[in-house]
Amino acid sequence: MTGILYIVATPIGNLADITGRAVEVLGEVDLIAAEDTRHSARLMQAHGISTPMLAYHDFNEARGAAGIIDRLQQGRNIALITDAGTPLVSDPGYRLVRMARESGVRVVPVPGPSAVIAALSCAGLASDRFTFEGFLPAKEAARMAKLKLLEKEQRTMIFYEAPHRILACLGDMLAVFGEAREVVLARELTKNFETVINGSLARLLEVVTNDTDQQKGEMVLVVAGAEDVKEDEAQLRHIMIVLLEELPLKQAASLASKITGCKKNRLYELGLDLSGKKD
Ligand code: SAM
Repeated sequence: MTGILYIVATPIGNLADITGRAVEVLGEVDLIAAEDTRHSARLMQAHGISTPMLAYHDFNEARGAAGIIDRLQQGRNIALITDAGTPLVSDPGYRLVRMARESGVRVVPVPGPSAVIAALSCAGLASDRFTFEGFLPAKEAARMAKLKLLEKEQRTMIFYEAPHRILACLGDMLAVFGEAREVVLARELTKNFETVINGSLARLLEVVTNDTDQQKGEMVLVVAGAEDVKEDEAQLRHIMIVLLEELPLKQAASLASKITGCKKNRLYELGLDLSGKKD
């Protein structure tokens, strides 16, 4: 009989945020594979768990996974945990789970906290459809290229970000998504200095620039998706039709631009189209 590999979610800050089942499983397995055994020792102590731990992190994932699979095949039950939240979510574990499944080992999730879901749940942005983008590239050119691919994404987008890159990241987002795009910065969730700030990208960039506390700790950015272009186009046409009934084209385009924030040239072109003056 092979053992079971449990994928156990642990708190993202508040040590009380652990499920009863997670405590039970961590106390009963033969071994806990942890990203950082010293870090996880605090959690084990808080919940009276004395199961032996073994280090399993990014640097030893290939070798470590093979060793864990061997033990599972010998019938041991093993739990995988990471420093915070759900393993595999921007954390190690993918290779191990893949190998376990390929070797016929049963993989059992023990769900619980994850910063992506905690942030989404308190952001107040559309949550019916969303995309988790993890960490953006650290270098500006690569980050901008990735953001440009997301420019027209209509689903709410969720990013993890490191504190020392938050200003650069917000600046690049503003350049790509525009200053009016709604965004939420969820910082230090479930911890003493938990802060959730919402507003336009322009406002958030200003707040974070002026308050260096907002550049500290662990953070998630939740960004509203792009407006539906078809709906947008229909609304622009409607505004231009109404204005063209009262005003010359140039003035109508200028006023519509002020109302909608849309480029004057685009509205002028649309006006030409509507009045049949375009070839
Ligand atoms: N596996 C974890 C999860 O399920 O959320 C994520 C691990 S990833 C290496 C760490 C990143 O998650 C941090 O840099 C931050 O972006 C986010 N994060 C983790 N804990 C957080 C918290 N308490 N508040 C806000 N963001 C957090």
